[in-house]
Amino acid sequence: KKVVIVGGVAGGATTAARLRRLDEQTEIIMIERGEYISFANCGLPYYIGGAIQERDALLVQTVEGMSKKFNMDIRNLSEVTRIDRERKMVEIKNLKTGESYEENYDVLVLSPGASPIKPPIPGIDEAQALFTLRNIPDTDKIKAYVDEQQPRKAAVIGGGFIGVEMAENLRERGIEVTLVEMANQIMAPIDFEMASILHQHVREKGVNLVLEDGVKSFDNNGKLINLTSGKQLETDLIILAIGVVPENKLAKEAGLELGLRGAIRVNERLQTADESIYAIGDAIEVKDYINGQATHIPLAWPANRQGRIVADRINGIDSKYQGTLGTSIAKVFDMTVAATGNNEKTLKRLGISYDVVHVHPSSHAGYYPGAFPIALKLIFDRETGKIFGAQAVSYDGADKRIDVLATAIKGGMTIFDLPDLELAYAPPYSSAKDPVNMAGYAAK
Ligand code: FAD
Repeated sequence: KKVVIVGGVAGGATTAARLRRLDEQTEIIMIERGEYISFANCGLPYYIGGAIQERDALLVQTVEGMSKKFNMDIRNLSEVTRIDRERKMVEIKNLKTGESYEENYDVLVLSPGASPIKPPIPGIDEAQALFTLRNIPDTDKIKAYVDEQQPRKAAVIGGGFIGVEMAENLRERGIEVTLVEMANQIMAPIDFEMASILHQHVREKGVNLVLEDGVKSFDNNGKLINLTSGKQLETDLIILAIGVVPENKLAKEAGLELGLRGAIRVNERLQTADESIYAIGDAIEVKDYINGQATHIPLAWPANRQGRIVADRINGIDSKYQGTLGTSIAKVFDMTVAATGNNEKTLKRLGISYDVVHVHPSSHAGYYPGAFPIALKLIFDRETGKIFGAQAVSYDGADKRIDVLATAIKGGMTIFDLPDLELAYAPPYSSAKDPVNMAGYAAK
């Protein structure tokens, strides 16, 4: 069997490693457009901020290391430019020499990811210090700019995960940060009243948070930002983090079916419209685990899980992808925000009725130092007990509660099961009645 993998980072490298573990004979060729493979995308903002000091720590695997360890053919600085489905062949361009050649496959795995959105805002092309963040070269550019030019002011456009993480990390570098978000809240996976806690926190941390406003144009080579409201921002540095779009060019040109937001459509076996071609990661449309609708959730866990499933399937193991719950977490300065499942905004949009409880228990026993209240929100159906989703914001303990609730959802548990979860307790960690138990009692 000969497997060609397009993309050598989260989904691609996982597939490749699992393929080798399952079978020593498979011929594995992994093609990556960039210089680096298998790097830690999620760590990039923290390297810019300084929490991660060593650049090498971001490089989980190197081309040489991984090729040798797993006996595979890894070609970096190589771009797959065309898929010929009839001949089961891809065209690959060597970006060092500019030469193109063909490689045939028995199975093709697409894990090309998603690229940062860069809309045609007037003045964007003239903006000198405008950056997006996806990979190591982007990180190097931003870090070099911060180190060498020592910008005093930065504007981060977009209040999602990457925008908020960058706002924090630029503050860590002593830069005055303005965070501009078009919606009335940052962190879209949670609902407004939960995000309000974060709004207050980021403002306390010195971020100039501008909500319900967008960028109309850039002036003066990007030194001046004109907002839709008429407000103007002076800045030395711009981070554009307003979302990502699936890299669907190859799939589209090959006539594979696309879905929501142009994401590649796959079945539960992660096959595209062509059964010899699998697709995974940020590039694909997935089924929402809670409501069954098509969605696009670009996160690392799904990419990783899907990579394993595809490798299993290629080796005849019957494994299926059950959909994405969207469990997510982020550090927002001293606080943590975590969520799983659907929020109220999604359920309202789909016309699904639901109930909500908010509880604010301590992260651990109040009499033991260092406890903080957790704002914990549970969204559910009171009749059936179905858990639709949960959100938590706290200085401490939000991560654990959301992970427990995400597990409960995947385990098919209802709110009626939550009081019965017997969770670990000693005063430094929790209370005899854990916040998850409390949410369950409140919901019943
Ligand atoms: P990627 O990891 O992006 O890999 C795709 C690769 O394919 C790219 O390197 C690209 O160069 C290559 N490629 C594309 N087209 C071609 C082609 N035609 N030929 C050859 N190569 C090609 N997720 C979380 O869950 N938690 C986090 O904390 C988190 N933090 C993040 C922070 C940042 C700054 C970023 C950018 C992402 C973060 N993510 C996080 C998202 C996570 O990194 C992605 O969900 C995950 O990497 C998706 O894996 P993938 O394989 O689909 O795409």
